[in-house]
Amino acid sequence: MNNINKERPSMSHTNRLDDAPFDSLSPPVWRASTVVFDNLTDFIHRRERQPDGYSYGTTGTPTARGLERRIAALEGGRHCVVTPSGQAALMITVMAFVRAGDHVLVSAACYGALQILATRWLARLGVEVELYRPDIGRDIAARLRPTTRMICLEAPGSITMEMPDVRAIAEVARERGVLTMIDNTWAGPLAFRPLEHGVDFCIEAATKQFGGHSDLLLGSVTTNDHGHYAALRETQSIFGLQASPDDCFLVLRGLETLKVRLAAQCAAALEVASWLESHPLVERVLFPALASDPGHALWKRDFSGGGSLFSLILQGAPEAAMQALFAALRCFRIGASWGGVHSLAAYYPARLQAERPFALTDKALLRLSIGLEDSADLIADLDRALKAYAEATP
Ligand SMILES: *Cc1c(COP(=O)(O)O)cnc(C)c1O
Repeated sequence: MNNINKERPSMSHTNRLDDAPFDSLSPPVWRASTVVFDNLTDFIHRRERQPDGYSYGTTGTPTARGLERRIAALEGGRHCVVTPSGQAALMITVMAFVRAGDHVLVSAACYGALQILATRWLARLGVEVELYRPDIGRDIAARLRPTTRMICLEAPGSITMEMPDVRAIAEVARERGVLTMIDNTWAGPLAFRPLEHGVDFCIEAATKQFGGHSDLLLGSVTTNDHGHYAALRETQSIFGLQASPDDCFLVLRGLETLKVRLAAQCAAALEVASWLESHPLVERVLFPALASDPGHALWKRDFSGGGSLFSLILQGAPEAAMQALFAALRCFRIGASWGGVHSLAAYYPARLQAERPFALTDKALLRLSIGLEDSADLIADLDRALKAYAEATP
């Protein structure tokens, strides 16, 4: 009878690894809720390890720190905090620094969820939110008040692609002691490094080009100021917004091929956009990398590469014809998000455009994200879809 106890496997063990020599080209995925300490003194003082060190899973593990160092280097910045989504990165940047009574300037063309966060949640917390013209430059000075705390930029604007003068805005903000943050997801750090132009916080939705395969969500905020970094780390951990170590690993892997993916996708995007621009059914292509775009001069001055994402306005654009166009697409899949290896098409109805402050158009917009398919196939797909659009137009 005593044998039963003897055969029961021991449940007491450690996960210490053996000492045999081993190294790999990929980073380890460190998973942890609990961080363990060597002695009581270390445990008592564990919070003093922030913002860089480890005290509990909510401040991250070495896998997150590895990704943060990698992104900071790409951005030309000193410190980085990663979050579970691009939207979470935008949110912690605002929440770490904006208080009741502050005035915040937000681009009218910024990413939709940031705009909702600002106009609904921040307003509810007693923050005055003002939307500004997305293609603004030094004129931002006239919008500043003594209570202005932060300017939220995006270059170019989400969906409508207006180009702000980032340098001019950052300069005015510095003169007046106002913080600036930019959503740099469209260009990414290989094409544009906002911190080098005087912006305080650079945000990326790593979900898009960094990850590159439409299979994860992740965000980052990079800054040069250690005090700001500490405030961001605290906000990230107090809100419980730690990125999954597995997703950090996938982004680290995505970054290994970022340069070649981007080169191919941006070249294909330019090719497809140029073809569309000369199509009789296309009224306008919104893409700063095209010479015809009103933001092209600023893009050329500040950016060293084009994006893989652009929008277009079609002639007429009746809803029924749009249905026919989307139904005819084969290579392009219908979906939000972008920056992955698969090309995507998205649709933004006319009403939403017309209602926007500083509206660029009152027509529906089509947005294309160019992936790694053969550009000739993508153009053939659009050619077929535009024929279906023409046939369905009354
Ligand atoms: C997608 C996107 C975001 C948000 O990123 P998520 O990871 O999807 O939350 C923010 N800004 C821009 C410009 C985006 O395209």
